[in-house]
Amino acid sequence: MISIEGLTKTYHLGELDVPVLKEIDLSIQEGEYVAIMGTSGSGKSTLMNIIGCLDRPTSGLYTLDGRDLTTMDDDELADIRNQYIGFVFQQFNLLPRLTALENVMLPMIYAEVPRSERIKFAIAALEKIGLGDRLTNRPSQLSGGQQQRVAIARALVNHPALVLADEPTGALDSKTSHEIMELLTELNQQGTTIALVTHDATVAAQTKRVIHMQDGVIVETEKHS
Ligand code: ATP
Ligand code: MG
Repeated sequence: MISIEGLTKTYHLGELDVPVLKEIDLSIQEGEYVAIMGTSGSGKSTLMNIIGCLDRPTSGLYTLDGRDLTTMDDDELADIRNQYIGFVFQQFNLLPRLTALENVMLPMIYAEVPRSERIKFAIAALEKIGLGDRLTNRPSQLSGGQQQRVAIARALVNHPALVLADEPTGALDSKTSHEIMELLTELNQQGTTIALVTHDATVAAQTKRVIHMQDGVIVETEKHS
């Protein structure tokens, strides 16, 4: 599904070149469940953002399902993002003025799903994650775990082939974190490819492969059965 070769990202700060990703090689097959670990500043979020077409590499190859993403323009990248990818973030990134239902409907607006269908699918997605009775609540009226579940429903509502989660449990207590991981594990069992970033070894242990990054390079990969 994902093939990355010799990928680099360098930030230019005035006179200074700051290499953040250095010749990364990484393949992720369809159906995989991968965790990326590493110290703060090692480049995990930068890599995730490039994989998610939110950012571009400085050099190197990146193909998704055989399509070369490095030569695409911004509109084409946005289409890939809307078609293929769901995002989950540490701080949930829900829009505070919108209800749970409206937040989940957002990606379908970009995908040009008709309004009546959007409501139907959003309700189904929220029911599936156990928040069918919270449709009209705003994020501030929900607990952290509930907000993250809304964010997961939003990530899934267009049935993306790939879900990217940057520290999805980072702001949650261990019990809630476990519930969120159960949800992601179930999703993977249903066929969705998942890559997540975590600092938590308990979270990483629930995935099937752990990639360790250090200072912009992949230093080690472990496989779990
Ligand atoms: P954390 O665990 O703290 O989230 P991370 O592994 O996700 O860390 P990144 O956010 O990928 O790390 O950042 C990697 C490096 O790139 C850091 O040194 C950071 O300061 C730098 N960096 C990130 N974004 C920018 C930017 N827009 N401009 C300049 N430097 C940046
Ligand atoms: Mg990060």
